[in-house]
Amino acid sequence: MHLARFPRVRLGHLPTPLERLDRLSEALGGPEIWIKRDDCTGLSTGGNKTRKLEFLMAEALTEGADTVMTQGATQSNHARQTAAAAARLGLACHILLEDRTGSNDPNYNANGNVFLDHLHGATAEKRGPGLDMNAEMEAVAEAWRAKGRRVYTIPGGGSNPTGALGYVNCAMELVGQADYMGLKIDHIVHATGSSGTQAGLVCGLRAINAPIPVLGIGVRAPKPVQEENVFKLALATASKLGCPGVVARDDVVANTNYVGEGYGIPNAGTIAAIEMFARLEGILLDPVYSGKGAAGLIDLVGKGVFAHGQRVVFLHTGGAAGLFGYTAAFSYGSAAA
Ligand SMILES: *Cc1c(COP(=O)(O)O)cnc(C)c1O
Repeated sequence: MHLARFPRVRLGHLPTPLERLDRLSEALGGPEIWIKRDDCTGLSTGGNKTRKLEFLMAEALTEGADTVMTQGATQSNHARQTAAAAARLGLACHILLEDRTGSNDPNYNANGNVFLDHLHGATAEKRGPGLDMNAEMEAVAEAWRAKGRRVYTIPGGGSNPTGALGYVNCAMELVGQADYMGLKIDHIVHATGSSGTQAGLVCGLRAINAPIPVLGIGVRAPKPVQEENVFKLALATASKLGCPGVVARDDVVANTNYVGEGYGIPNAGTIAAIEMFARLEGILLDPVYSGKGAAGLIDLVGKGVFAHGQRVVFLHTGGAAGLFGYTAAFSYGSAAA
């Protein structure tokens, strides 16, 4: 395992802190809850896509791109971090945004991440729900190339083997911190979506022989689909790293019981988890990913899934900028309240 073999640009404030959540642990009365603060990666309010973009943007530069193109949901944190990374490196950025929720809320459509996309100078175009968004993006990229632009496309969520290297890096960083602190980690829990985070983590942990169980809390797809997506990407990432075969199908575990009505639609459990982290720890979660991940963590602790005395690390994947697109989901969040 030698990540320096791969091109990388420094975009994140790394290592991110690994800290114990005393008040949350006490309130839940189960295992010790620790947090890996990947919401603090530093790029335009931070988040997990920054680690992936360190490797993706390096590849774009290596290929001589003048433009990066990506796609995501309207309130995509990935799009926002890509826009910021492109700004930092002097590249143009164009984003295709998919309307997955059908919301007419002006905050959802123009505030939060959407506002920041534009603030970073990215251009954007919209698509209705249900299309093959990576195919839509490739078609736009071809049209731009025909006009002479050198376009590097990044799949949704930055989830390909190059992007997943960012979470191989996180796995090594986290284990290094835990070893230094003398902290034996029993479980890692985080929100899983386009799969690159979990695939990179599982692959990295296996490759350094630190087989800490990872639980991905799903935000969109049903469990078999989510696990298969993560597993496939973990296999491809292991091949890229030169250690094919380190990841077994059993290493990939997702729990998709906290999706609620659908992607990007928070439910009561999501809101309760966001309020709990905000009020007990002063930490901001988001309504699409980390709020659902934390809702899963809280519920599973309540069900006794993690034993007293165990150490569970919640990987905070970021997303708080999205809160400003979702104020209406909170009782005090609309102007009328
Ligand atoms: C993208 C994202 C995730 C999910 O990560 P994947 O690598 O897409 O599975 C989790 N949390 C936040 C805040 C995200 O933006």
